[in-house]
Amino acid sequence: MRPSYLIKPALDESYPEIDYGKGIYLFDQAGKRYLDASSGAVTANIGHGVPEIILAMHEQSKRVSFVYRSQFTSEPAEKLAEKLADLLPGDLNWSFFVNSGSEATETALKIAIQYWQEKGIKSKTKILSRWVSYHGITLGALSMSGHPGRRARFVPLLEEFPTISPPYCYRCPYQKSAPECGFLCAIELETAIKRIGADHIAAFIAEPVIGAAGGAISPPEDYYKTIKRICEENHILFIADEVMTGFGRTGPMLAIEHWNTIPDIVALGKGMGAGYAPIAATVVSDHVMEPILKGSKVIISGHTLSANPQSCAAALAVLEYLDNHQILKEVESKSVYLKNKLDRLKTQFPFIGEVRGKGLLFGLEFVQFPAAKIPFDPSVKLTELVVRTGRDHGILLYPAGAGLDGLSGDAVIIAPPLTVTKREIDELIALLQTTFIEVYKTLG
Ligand code: PLP
Repeated sequence: MRPSYLIKPALDESYPEIDYGKGIYLFDQAGKRYLDASSGAVTANIGHGVPEIILAMHEQSKRVSFVYRSQFTSEPAEKLAEKLADLLPGDLNWSFFVNSGSEATETALKIAIQYWQEKGIKSKTKILSRWVSYHGITLGALSMSGHPGRRARFVPLLEEFPTISPPYCYRCPYQKSAPECGFLCAIELETAIKRIGADHIAAFIAEPVIGAAGGAISPPEDYYKTIKRICEENHILFIADEVMTGFGRTGPMLAIEHWNTIPDIVALGKGMGAGYAPIAATVVSDHVMEPILKGSKVIISGHTLSANPQSCAAALAVLEYLDNHQILKEVESKSVYLKNKLDRLKTQFPFIGEVRGKGLLFGLEFVQFPAAKIPFDPSVKLTELVVRTGRDHGILLYPAGAGLDGLSGDAVIIAPPLTVTKREIDELIALLQTTFIEVYKTLG
């Protein structure tokens, strides 16, 4: 074995080296095949090795791979911004391209604060968010994230942004059920605004379906209607973090469209480049851009590789691929097919406490005692065990947090490429079954 100087997520673990990818499968150097049931980190939305995307990037690179955004614009960047303005709802028309989801939410934070400054209100600098959330790893994005595991080491450096409860019906913080609950977890936003003062709050940020921190927690009907009403009544911007859910992961371009809600700012990432290129975006509505366009006319943010032509060409090719193959139209029927099978697995393996999610973004929350929803002891490291056993058996799952504190529970995300076929879903389920049988054996 040659020595490795690559810093990996866990320094004491060995990771298989991937040789190539094709469709929903990855193949390592030893020839072992993995069914990518999580699209990596919910990213490879159209699968691996799609020739159209590779060709589009190649063609762009033959012309120019890089121009600096403060010196030039480029055809792919202009076309991509135009396309997004067409495809996204409402007046979400202005795109700021960056390279990762963290940069997209961090830029959203900065634009929200700048918006109020340009209107002459300098006191609105706090961003409200939810506990059990993940908005990125850079310090601004982490300050907005209710993800104790990822925050712990850096708490002294983080802004103390206030948080409210998540719409986590399986573990309702009020021990009630929707809709009779009256969406108390959304009403908490109103209470928090009263406590802090609307004149100190720039925006509220939320993932339409909570991903890494909660394992695909999808809110009840009318939750976002209540959130949007509270934001509007209190003059607070609503930022939808669609880094995981955008670009059709749940069917529509934005997951928030399921709830007929239009945010003021949207963060996109992951599925945008579908893993072919690092690209993400902060998309801003006309009404938020207006005072900036009338005022300073400059957004003080950006990165050397922002709006990179090759990355923009990749994202354009992804959009074209989604359209040419009518992929988003089939998400709902595949979702129903996969959900039925996951529900059936839940009856076979009682440690699956809940199957939840939206579109092709599902979470399985694991519990030791299902009737009382009691999680496994953290020393069992159940999520790790499931993910590792899955990988050994050739299926890739994405580990997620769970529990109202975002720490005490276990969950995995199932989110295959949107191109997955029903036959491949059958195979995914068979591999999950084998994995769970093995996990049960290990648990004894
Ligand atoms: N926002 C959400 C909802 C995410 O799921 C993630 C990543 O998992 C991020 C932001 C951060 O994106 P990135 O890892 O590309 O910086």
